[in-house]
Amino acid sequence: THFGFRTVDKNDKEAMVAGVFHSVAGKYDLMNDLMSFGIHRAWKRFTIECSGVRRDQRVLDLAGGTGDLTAKFSRLVGESGEVVLADINASMLKVGREKLRNLGIIDNVSYVQANAEALPFPDNYFDCITISFGLRNVTDKDKALRSMFRVLKPGGRLLVLEFSKPMLKPLSKVYDFYSFHVLPRIGDMVTKDPGSYRYLAESIRMHPDQETLKGMMVDAGFDSVNYFNLTGGIVALHRGFKF
Ligand code: SAM
Repeated sequence: THFGFRTVDKNDKEAMVAGVFHSVAGKYDLMNDLMSFGIHRAWKRFTIECSGVRRDQRVLDLAGGTGDLTAKFSRLVGESGEVVLADINASMLKVGREKLRNLGIIDNVSYVQANAEALPFPDNYFDCITISFGLRNVTDKDKALRSMFRVLKPGGRLLVLEFSKPMLKPLSKVYDFYSFHVLPRIGDMVTKDPGSYRYLAESIRMHPDQETLKGMMVDAGFDSVNYFNLTGGIVALHRGFKF
């Protein structure tokens, strides 16, 4: 990474992730569209469809960043529902809040700066939790999954949308080339920060594959865990329930 090659301990990783998202916050939405050719919108739409969220429910959009999912949930839950956009990074939260306010989304959304590893909410509080492209940035993923399980209501569901392992070898090769060579260049042109996008490529490679993440969710207490491969497994949506 642009921080040099060395063993990264917990505090280093948190500081690195904080630096990356402070740096890219202002250009995050533009970069998402450029890097994924707009496909992230379809992945997010699918997540909403699988969420089963209805009017009056309480939803946590964890590591919610600039609030794409929050905006959609806000419409689904209606005035008497509640959506919490939680993120560890103040810059991302600020960009998200401004964007949603400009869209006229005000009444049923609140913003909380929080670490996924230690969620500041009561037990059994949310009907649905989503974490979209956030889990791979979390240092202690098992702890974060246990924290999500605690704040989910019995009957509630967790959806984890995240980069995963492409199912076919040739796709894997093309994808590796894209993420290690093309992506940092786009990052350099748009944000003048290729290091942050090199971090992104490395974090994708390090993230647990489909079956490993499924096992981690089961270990954290989730039931009926399954996943959907999207775009050949470049991304996967994992879903688990608290019964
Ligand atoms: N969910 C949004 C989306 O899908 O577009 C934003 C995803 S962005 C790639 C990752 C987000 O995770 C950043 O906003 C970052 O600040 C947040 N994040 C990283 N570590 C976190 C943690 N430990 N707890 C909560 N949020 C975290």
